[in-house]
Amino acid sequence: MPSLALEVESTPDEVVASALKRFEQDRIAISFSGAEDVVLIDIAAKLVGNAFSVFTLDTGRLHAETYEFIDRVREHYDIQIEVLSPDNWDVEELVREKGLFSFYKDGHTQCCGIRKIASLERKLGELDAWITGQRRDQSATRTNVPHEQVDTAFSTRTHEIVKFNPLASWIADDVWSYIRKHKVPYNVLHDQGYKSIGCAPCTRPIKADEPERAGRWWWEHEDDKECGLHAQNLSSD
Ligand code: SF4
Repeated sequence: MPSLALEVESTPDEVVASALKRFEQDRIAISFSGAEDVVLIDIAAKLVGNAFSVFTLDTGRLHAETYEFIDRVREHYDIQIEVLSPDNWDVEELVREKGLFSFYKDGHTQCCGIRKIASLERKLGELDAWITGQRRDQSATRTNVPHEQVDTAFSTRTHEIVKFNPLASWIADDVWSYIRKHKVPYNVLHDQGYKSIGCAPCTRPIKADEPERAGRWWWEHEDDKECGLHAQNLSSD
């Protein structure tokens, strides 16, 4: 197993380069959904052409603009993006029992569990490492995110998974400076006041002075604003 060798001062390019060097292409992938993730794709493309893997979680509840964005990124970089769908039976059972908007009543955990986490767990079962766009300044739950960590939420007793967060030390301005400088594609919803973009019913535009993830699950407490993809941020691990 590769060691956790990255220094705190590493740049995003160095973190991505190290990650892609240490793991075979079919054992590591970039998790794609937001602006940060396209920066990661852009960095990877500059390093290794299109010899890297990308997946995204299609919950079935994304904005039309997000679906358009996924396809635009695929064409821009001439890459394959593996679009993971949730289990039909589980979604149908949830909707049959609780309707299409149960998360407004009893929280997002169950719906995210079915529409996102189960798909992610299935995908990570095929990988040894994944690369995410988490940044420390995104929310109170992410202030300690390192450049590299063992993913304690998805590793098992027999299968350790490493998570790379190359943009951990960047702030939002760094991301958008990069996007503008390198003409990186982005979701047009950002031009309509959305900052952090998730599913349509669980994301809303925010004011300039609000925290970046204030528009996500706005009816819930700030400390609950992880969908389970980065559940370890909520623990002391
Ligand atoms: S963000 Fe909302 S709609 Fe999307 S999976 Fe979570 S609870 Fe369901």
